[in-house]
Amino acid sequence: MFLTRNLQGLRALRVSRFSTSTRLASAAAAATATSRMQPMDCSEIKITKADKLKPMPELNTLQFGKEFTDHMLIMKWNKDNGWNKPEIVPFGNLSMHPASSVFHYSFECFEGMKAYKDANGVPRLFRPIRNAERMLNTGRRISLPDFDPNQLVEGIKKFVDLESRWVPQERGYSLYIRPTFIGTDSALGVHDVGNAMLFVIASPVGPYYKSGFKAVKLCCSENIVRAWPGGSGHYKLGGNYAPSVVPAREAGKKGFAQILWLYGEEDYVTEVGTMNCFTVWINKNGEKEIITAPLDGMILPGVTRASVLDIARERLAPQGWKITEGKYSMKDVAQAANEGRLLEVFGSGTAALVSPVKAIQYRGKEFSIPLPAGKEAGPITEQISNWILDIQYGKEPNHPWSVPVRN
Ligand SMILES: *Cc1c(COP(=O)(O)O)cnc(C)c1O
Repeated sequence: MFLTRNLQGLRALRVSRFSTSTRLASAAAAATATSRMQPMDCSEIKITKADKLKPMPELNTLQFGKEFTDHMLIMKWNKDNGWNKPEIVPFGNLSMHPASSVFHYSFECFEGMKAYKDANGVPRLFRPIRNAERMLNTGRRISLPDFDPNQLVEGIKKFVDLESRWVPQERGYSLYIRPTFIGTDSALGVHDVGNAMLFVIASPVGPYYKSGFKAVKLCCSENIVRAWPGGSGHYKLGGNYAPSVVPAREAGKKGFAQILWLYGEEDYVTEVGTMNCFTVWINKNGEKEIITAPLDGMILPGVTRASVLDIARERLAPQGWKITEGKYSMKDVAQAANEGRLLEVFGSGTAALVSPVKAIQYRGKEFSIPLPAGKEAGPITEQISNWILDIQYGKEPNHPWSVPVRN
């Protein structure tokens, strides 16, 4: 509702700005602060190209998020004028006031999305409006300014089009895109954001595991909670991530790739590492079920999560699978494992798409999840992954989730 009203406001503003006949008439109205505010507008982007383009890295040497493309997209905002004209500039360091609010109070949120090259060499985004809307929503939680999410998608399309050569063609490879939104006020008070910057950088990435899937072991969180009711764990705020690194390192020392974050006395399953979590089982009623935790304010609303649910409802429900967003606990999972009803567990997120699990350590016991002989993922995990990959790489013609960056 709020979003719709806001967008109508933005549209109305744009009409009045560009229609000369109403300019004078609206001069009086323009005295109010809001009407002087420029909305984010990516219909035109000022481009300053890098003098020298970087050599392309070897695909098989790519490490996640370590090499970046030649340029970056930058948009700045302040409370008096609104959004400035977006610019694409050579990739490089930012110069910032040391008191900038991003450094002190974590006025920061981010997005993670990818561009995939189709058979015609055109980069495609995957449901990009969802990332843009999520960034708007997250930003609002920390007082960052509004924008029209369609304009952010427009800006990202133009940026990725310019960086086309950085989008690898091979399946499993992609260009990881990192929109970042920060408060830049240069004063130490904790208050509403008056100056902000939204920038977008991009990094070519390979598959998480060269050999396709690699099933991992998880360790349940014991004394630490990732998110809680009324908290901000369901937002992609930078401040949520730094505190997860030390527990993950401790788990890593014991041979576990990720933490399975539980919540409450029931030990509800919430998320795995920085991914959403899916469990495939025969439930207590004897039904074939794919279940994931509900969006109850503790779960990050993943674009991949939504896509897994959508595609499972469309293509697996007709085969008798029950698709559920609902609370379930690690006790339920342990019982299912003991009774031979636990079929598959996987994480879902943009970086790895799906990440199969082969064992979970819980209260001193290891529960293993059976994998087909010689395989690193169960059939449901693999099937869902292939369906989504086909859409991402444009192999499924005209799928609405796959958005080419140019026509
Ligand atoms: C980003 C993220 C996810 C996955 O979201 P996608 O949109 O699918 O990439 C899940 N959990 C957490 C905690 C995340 O930060």
